[in-house]
Amino acid sequence: MNGEPDLLIGGTWRHASDGGTRDIINPADGSVAAVVDEASPDDARAAVAAARACFDDGSWRATPAGERAALLHRVADLLQRDKESLSRLETRDTGKTLAESRIDIDDVTSVFRYYAHLIGAESDRLVDVGAPAVVSRVVREPIGVCVLIAPWNYPLLQMSWKVAPALAAGCTMVCKPSEVTPLSTIAFTHLLQEAGVPASVVNLVQGSGAALGQALTDNPDVDFISFTGGLATGRTIARTAAEHVTKVALELGGKNPHIVFADIGSDGWDSAVDHVLTGVFLHSGQVCSAGTRLIVEQSIADEFVADLAARAEKIRIGDGMDPASETGPLVSADHRDKVENYVALGVSEGATLVTGGARPSDPALADGYFYLPTIFDHCERTMRIVQEETFGPILTVERFTTESEAIGLGNDTQYGLAAGVRTSDSARGERVVRQLRHGTVWLNDFGYYTAAAEWGGFGRSGNGRELGPTGLAEYQELKHIWHNTAPAPAGWFKG
Ligand code: NAP
Repeated sequence: MNGEPDLLIGGTWRHASDGGTRDIINPADGSVAAVVDEASPDDARAAVAAARACFDDGSWRATPAGERAALLHRVADLLQRDKESLSRLETRDTGKTLAESRIDIDDVTSVFRYYAHLIGAESDRLVDVGAPAVVSRVVREPIGVCVLIAPWNYPLLQMSWKVAPALAAGCTMVCKPSEVTPLSTIAFTHLLQEAGVPASVVNLVQGSGAALGQALTDNPDVDFISFTGGLATGRTIARTAAEHVTKVALELGGKNPHIVFADIGSDGWDSAVDHVLTGVFLHSGQVCSAGTRLIVEQSIADEFVADLAARAEKIRIGDGMDPASETGPLVSADHRDKVENYVALGVSEGATLVTGGARPSDPALADGYFYLPTIFDHCERTMRIVQEETFGPILTVERFTTESEAIGLGNDTQYGLAAGVRTSDSARGERVVRQLRHGTVWLNDFGYYTAAAEWGGFGRSGNGRELGPTGLAEYQELKHIWHNTAPAPAGWFKG
């Protein structure tokens, strides 16, 4: 970063082999926040080769689970020691508020602690095969060399969901953060070294996915690819990996419904408005599980949308470093273009623009990539703004009159990452929650998760799961060991 080498390959920090660098832009004002090395495809291949040699050498995967757990705890301690500087890097890079970045670093810490406990408690599974002389057990072994690819909206958080279980399992790895937001991952990789991660266990190459993707994913030396990002990229990676039958886990996009029943009444009204607002406009909507699709009962819809719009207009937008800001900018000029195109599309599709639909007029924000919280009412399920992931501060509103209609709308998506339901009727809540085809469903809440519970999507939101015990199992192979303690002839062939 800023002249220091940023690629970690085979235990050595290096500049890019072709001298490539990239300006990292602060989305709050368009300034250059840092200049980092940008890996070449040769660097990516070298990183995979280093991870392969390290895994095949066997010493890391043979490290006792207790030692790996202790290492994960040391990483967690260092994350807390450096929480403030890591949070500042994350805010400068992504634009999110410092308050959000601090929560991210706490969450990253708890992911490391969770997997430290889990790996420390893991044991083999004994199987009774019905033969007294046979000891049969199923053991877990590391899957091997992992390529870990993360997106720009939660750079360190998403990377930690991969690195922590991969280290816990005894894998070696190549990490590739988004080219747009590599800063926190570079700093974090230094922390991993400081914590004592052996050379070549973790390798880091940042750079353009389009340029590095092939070298990382079309590679017979890779055993597992864990990818978080968009549907189109996920498809490309899955196709490429199929050539080598490489296992792939995909955490993709979402178009997440938030269903509000009229029975919330006056007691549940304010919290429903507040959670719908936060669910869609936090981090300017750049959240895979953002509740971008409000599905509200017809009888309360007008009043509910009016209250939402009034609250949306009061959201304080600004530089994430400013404690007064409640939400920051979009991550880049290109991304704001994409969001603006979706707003134009919504208008042309006939949705009613209730609020937003423009950049803020405040001249102090003119150099950043800010965009106003935007609400479209009277949307139809067939509209592209209702069906496609806009990944910006855009809420669409659809109305329903019956419970089954609400469920039908909530499931009418190619995705299936997350959903919210708000009702004061607990029997209805349970009925609806169980019928929604989404990986996480919040009942009378929105947006929360824990390291101990699986995260992932139904449908085209991906396959596999991160977090929880399954998030560790993704990085493990199962081996059945059949041990006959009193060997005797099989006796099948008589001659
Ligand atoms: P993206 O464009 O798909 O990129 C994700 C990562 O893949 C980046 O590191 C990117 O590198 C890299 N990449 C791009 N092309 C590649 C290729 N051909 N081969 C290998 N890697 C490649 O997604 P994004 O715009 O960064 O992130 C937003 C998306 O992530 C949204 O769809 C969001 O819903 C999803 N997301 C999902 C979850 C979840 O838990 N399901 C969580 C967070 C985000 P470059 O950036 O350097 O091009």
